[in-house]
Amino acid sequence: MGTKGTAGAKGSAGATGSGISRRSVLIGGAVTAVGAAALARDRLERAWWRLPGVEKSRTPGEVDYARAKWTAASPANWRRADRPDDFGIDRVVIHVTQGSFRSAVKVFQDPGHGAAAHYVVRRDGHVAQMIRELDVAFHAGNRSYNERSVGIEHEGFVDRPQDFTAAMYGASARLTAAICGRYGIPVDRDHIIGHVEVPGADHTDPGKHWDWDRYMKLVRAAERAR
Ligand SMILES: [Zn+2]
Repeated sequence: MGTKGTAGAKGSAGATGSGISRRSVLIGGAVTAVGAAALARDRLERAWWRLPGVEKSRTPGEVDYARAKWTAASPANWRRADRPDDFGIDRVVIHVTQGSFRSAVKVFQDPGHGAAAHYVVRRDGHVAQMIRELDVAFHAGNRSYNERSVGIEHEGFVDRPQDFTAAMYGASARLTAAICGRYGIPVDRDHIIGHVEVPGADHTDPGKHWDWDRYMKLVRAAERAR
């Protein structure tokens, strides 16, 4: 799972109306000023990296991986971006949820959670996409790794190898192969990494029972079959 602390605080504009007290007008005005400052800062941040004319259109419910089913994460748990044109994508980060598929989906939909991954893979091989690959998901607990990676969560617990089923390994490997193919990411352990391998990560997932040899073989086989 991801960690908090990577989400940028965003101000929101307060509404002022007629017939309200002077105090609430002042508060409303202050909130609006903060909102405008955040917006200006956001525009400034976007301006220096943005290539002209690369804003991509978004269709609600659209997925990047044909086998995935869309289930939206809360917008508080990711940041709008325009990858791979603003930030190049060169990593896939493998996670284990320390819980069920349903609980992962639920917390990623919770704006208070502060973290979410692009995909969640269920024990039976079902794949949910919760954040578009062009956007930055808060999953790695490291800003630059969030900006350059796609995060995949896997249902289960790190100390229960039986949670990592053949269906899960196979579905996840096909997904990872598709991501690597899309962005030209080399299929190796320098580019397909565990959350534990992210610099500064305080998480241990996917843990010692995640069978990397088996997984990488499956990713390579899926890559060849593409
Ligand atoms: Zn994790």
